[in-house]
Amino acid sequence: MNGPEYIAPANLGDALRIKHERGAQARVIAGGTDLILRMRDKVLAPDLLIDLKNVSLDTISDSDNGIRLGACVTLSQILSEPVITGSYPALAGACREFAGPPIRNRGTLGGNLVNASPAADLVPPLLAYDANLVLASSSAVRELPLTGFFTGPGQTVMAPDEILTEVRLPSMPAPTASVFIKLGQRRSMAISIVNLAIRLTLDDASRVSAARIVLGAVAPTPIRAGASEALLTGQELSGELIALAAKKASRETSAITDVRASKEYREKMTRVLVRRALESIRDELQRSESSG
Ligand SMILES: Cc1cc2nc3c(=O)[nH]c(=O)nc-3n(C[C@H](O)[C@H](O)[C@H](O)COP(=O)(O)OP(=O)(O)OC[C@H]3O[C@@H](n4cnc5c(N)ncnc54)[C@H](O)[C@@H]3O)c2cc1C
Repeated sequence: MNGPEYIAPANLGDALRIKHERGAQARVIAGGTDLILRMRDKVLAPDLLIDLKNVSLDTISDSDNGIRLGACVTLSQILSEPVITGSYPALAGACREFAGPPIRNRGTLGGNLVNASPAADLVPPLLAYDANLVLASSSAVRELPLTGFFTGPGQTVMAPDEILTEVRLPSMPAPTASVFIKLGQRRSMAISIVNLAIRLTLDDASRVSAARIVLGAVAPTPIRAGASEALLTGQELSGELIALAAKKASRETSAITDVRASKEYREKMTRVLVRRALESIRDELQRSESSG
């Protein structure tokens, strides 16, 4: 049997036109670290691969309103960007814990999102920072919140003729602190058993004005623990509140048992890790309050 046709369009316009003409049978390829394995395992059998390597979606730009990351930026590029390590530490943390250097050099932001794994490591931090996505087709461009992008494992709201072009992150008001934690079966090169990103912003009275608690690998898609976020909002962070919020978050999961871990272990570790993340955020916010 022959493999798929391959094309590397010179610009985004050509890529979108070809995607429009060939629809779902044409598959975009970025780093190929997910797609090639899925083709090898016969989960996907596209007729055509549209390689985005010449399409100039590989820049990161900074503005007063936030940052814009092209869909084809690699994990290594994100990690070497000072504005991300400085202002979006949970995203940098996820990239640091992601596979090893060869995969980080090839794997892209867009590929991690469109692959739509419930355990994708970049999704919790991006949701915690209220990311928006830009999707383009040959006839339109639309911007939509990342919340609501995933409809199930491997499923998104993208139309067959669309390409993800950009991820936008708003600026974070001060004081804000955020953290990413990943639990895998081993220290590196592991798929997450549980991953999470938490971001808290405080108001002038040191009460939580915005809380984002995002959990991965514990439901069919990454989820926000809305009840736990609501519990924290408007409150001062105390040890008691943190313990309660962690307990509530673990009850918001709908984890399953699979080859990596049992449902019960995932629920228990969600509680432990949310508490740990919130304590670390509280300590960081207290340190910045006393130094500023
Ligand atoms: C050894 C190994 C370790 C890994 N470790 C991790 C890990 O620690 N954490 C983790 O989250 N993942 C991990 N992965 C999975 C994978 O590397 C990531 O999901 C990576 O970000 C995928 O990016 P890519 O550019 O290689 O995507 P590709 O394989 O090129 O594409 C993935 C999917 O997205 C689509 N796509 C890609 N870009 C676009 C776009 N711009 N618009 C529309 N569709 C697009 C493709 O058609 C395909 O369906 C690992 C994979 C391997 C092989």
